[in-house]
Amino acid sequence: MSEISYDKTDPHDFLDIDSLLSEEEILLRDTVRNYVEKEIQPHVGDWWDKGTIPHAELAKDFGELGMLGMHLEGYGCAGTSATAYGLACLELEAGDSGIRSFVSVQGSLAMFPIWKFGSEDQKQTWLPRMASGEVIGCFGLTEADSGSDPASMRTHARKDGSDWVISGSKMWITNGSIADIAVVWARTNEGVRGFIIPTDTPGFSAADIKKKASLRASVTSELVFDDVRVPEDFLLPGVSSMRGPLSCLNEARFGIAFGAMGAARDCYETALAYAKEREQFDTPIAAFQLTQRKLVEMMVAVQRGTLVALHLGRRKDEGTLTPEQVSFGKFDNVRNALDVARLARSVLGANGITLEYPVFRHMANLETVFTYEGTNEIHTLVMGQAITGLNAFT
Ligand SMILES: Cc1cc2nc3c(=O)[nH]c(=O)nc-3n(C[C@H](O)[C@H](O)[C@H](O)COP(=O)(O)OP(=O)(O)OC[C@H]3O[C@@H](n4cnc5c(N)ncnc54)[C@H](O)[C@@H]3O)c2cc1C
Repeated sequence: MSEISYDKTDPHDFLDIDSLLSEEEILLRDTVRNYVEKEIQPHVGDWWDKGTIPHAELAKDFGELGMLGMHLEGYGCAGTSATAYGLACLELEAGDSGIRSFVSVQGSLAMFPIWKFGSEDQKQTWLPRMASGEVIGCFGLTEADSGSDPASMRTHARKDGSDWVISGSKMWITNGSIADIAVVWARTNEGVRGFIIPTDTPGFSAADIKKKASLRASVTSELVFDDVRVPEDFLLPGVSSMRGPLSCLNEARFGIAFGAMGAARDCYETALAYAKEREQFDTPIAAFQLTQRKLVEMMVAVQRGTLVALHLGRRKDEGTLTPEQVSFGKFDNVRNALDVARLARSVLGANGITLEYPVFRHMANLETVFTYEGTNEIHTLVMGQAITGLNAFT
């Protein structure tokens, strides 16, 4: 008969989730974790405060670590499993959601559409340089009046001889003003098409969105296309419908299901350490029942969400993951991460509102993560439709 083990339980990995990872996955996870601990965590509070990131240096480092487009095969990409990519997202977001966003946008939103829908020539031209971090990409889908319903986009492209002329604007575009190329989705006579637009093309401009109170260690921009003319071979030939951008979003959302648990883990770890040190009434606050309740809620949420993410990763690797299951992970893990961050904030008391600790920064970042890549409500409707067969979007 198999018996219960009475070995000590690890407060940092309560369910021994590490035992579900391969040696290779643990090695990769630890490599990213070490990088984040050394190169991101000591500085990111300051970057966040100033609303800036050293994007060129980070791109180079991420390129050397093989983290840009890491789950894509060929063209200089690392070709790891989806699970390994997810684990990297988790570790990056333990640093900051903005840093994970930088890598997600590059790999899942800018490189993926070129890899999936691009011509051989486009792949050869862009992917190796994007994988190395030499070329930064952004993904332009959202518009000022077209967020949760991206099919209502107004940006359009018309054929003019052998060229395409693109007019309109995009809003809330991560990496917009620092990008070398923008993958932009526009309405055409042939359906929604994707274009690779070098950002030095005449008529293209990008302006940063200032005064953000969330995702401050990330560049967010408005893109304007004033009759931007590109040749036919800048059009992604492989897709002419909303399936194009939506498939990219599924890739990125998958990473978010993991990533949110990184932010949550960092909040839990910070609160646990703080509660054991901080004394009130001559007692560590960790000894109070009400604090233990919070710590246990956080720990359980992090472990549960990490298991969900890992399950999605395994399914993606075996080719059985559905978009609705991705919605499950994005929906549940992000809302739980926000709850964890808020609980951690309260454990830290007044210190919880400063940038000396990472908790408030994660909490504010997660408000963006709750909204982008399909809002919590939109993922609710995706799953609602899957279980009822009824469309409640309109
Ligand atoms: C920091 C940041 C970075 C971003 N980066 C990018 C990027 O790189 N590229 C890009 O293309 N976009 C990006 N986005 C945009 C993001 O994807 C959108 O903000 C998101 O899709 C929501 O759109 P919206 O903000 O217009 O909200 P809206 O769509 O106006 O929604 C407002 C509210 O209404 C709810 N709602 C909408 N429709 C329904 C419905 N049918 N039923 C019930 N409730 C509904 C929403 O859930 C939400 O609560 C970014 C956003 C942020 C904040």
